[in-house]
Amino acid sequence: MRYVSATLAIRFLLMLLLAFFASCPIQARDIKIGLFFNRKITTVVFTPVGGEYIIYGDYRQVGVARKGFIYHIDNSGGVLTIQDTLNVIGSFSRIEFKGISRSNIFSIRPVIPSLPPRESDDNLLLQGEADFMRIINILDLEKYIAGTIETEGGSNAHPEYYKAQAILARTFAVKNFYRHGSEGFNLCDTEHCQAYKGKSRMNPEIHAAVMATKELVMCDMNGHLVNTPYHSNCGGMTSDAFQAWKQPLPHLQPVIDQFCRNSKNAKWESMLSRDEWIAYLTGKGFKKDRLMQADLSFSPASREKYYRIGEHQVELTEVRRDLKLKSAWFSIVTGADKIRFQGKGYGHGVGMCQEGAMEMARKGYVYVDILHFYFRNIKIESIPERR
Ligand SMILES: [Zn+2]
Ligand SMILES: [Zn+2]
Repeated sequence: MRYVSATLAIRFLLMLLLAFFASCPIQARDIKIGLFFNRKITTVVFTPVGGEYIIYGDYRQVGVARKGFIYHIDNSGGVLTIQDTLNVIGSFSRIEFKGISRSNIFSIRPVIPSLPPRESDDNLLLQGEADFMRIINILDLEKYIAGTIETEGGSNAHPEYYKAQAILARTFAVKNFYRHGSEGFNLCDTEHCQAYKGKSRMNPEIHAAVMATKELVMCDMNGHLVNTPYHSNCGGMTSDAFQAWKQPLPHLQPVIDQFCRNSKNAKWESMLSRDEWIAYLTGKGFKKDRLMQADLSFSPASREKYYRIGEHQVELTEVRRDLKLKSAWFSIVTGADKIRFQGKGYGHGVGMCQEGAMEMARKGYVYVDILHFYFRNIKIESIPERR
């Protein structure tokens, strides 16, 4: 009897411990972002905008930077020389500005070449290379997510839309965490990864949405992080991943979208002369004689893969890329000497349709509904511990 109650007591204690750990606040995660990626920057100006910074030169404390102080850092052959408005502080291969709190903000402005300044959160690391300096922003993952959503635009959108967008951006960041590992950071600040142009400051709703979905990411049914593409407008039907990218992904299947059909980018038009269109198709291997006599019109009922005349065909995604059309879903209306493209949607059409998602949010759907509508066989979970 005593043995049974001891076992029960141990079980109870274990449950208490589990409940305690499950309710523990999650530690902040940092991410390293390569700023001004692909620009060979040799001189910058650094200014604290909020909070104080400790300055480290080659891991040694060499000063304290206060709000409004200005620091000039110049790279010469991999050696960074830092000076304030009065004195040279020193020369190092690595300079770090470390905020004394988690609410530090700084401004950085490239001088050579001259580029507009950026404001960002948390810490900054500069590393000297032979002919440029690496500029690495080490910041809280959630602040970075807020910045990417603001960079993407979509201001004045509904909070539920921002929450869906936050989960997509966070999933991308965690899934691609080691993309730039050999360069000393996690992700770059361009569209190669996700565009990040600095601190989110225009929309407080973005920050609230990021915090409301803190640590949440999208996984497949086996718990693996998934690709999270999105586009402006699908035109009424999303594209499956295979059709757009020749890569079958079970969570990216065509979805009939009734939400985006009256949005800004639902329709587009473009014109070419008949001769230009025939010349384009001839370049793709179509027979000119055949084209001169053929009916060139085209009116697909839904997303199709090819434009065909006789035995020849060209992929619609290829036509879109070559002619810089807004989407690969279009009809062709022929006139005496003109070809009119009447298109639907804007973008590759795979994954979440942003304008449809915004409309869903306005109609009262929550972010979980929005993500399950555009992505199949997914779960929304906390970041898996092993990345
Ligand atoms: Zn990148
Ligand atoms: Zn849509």
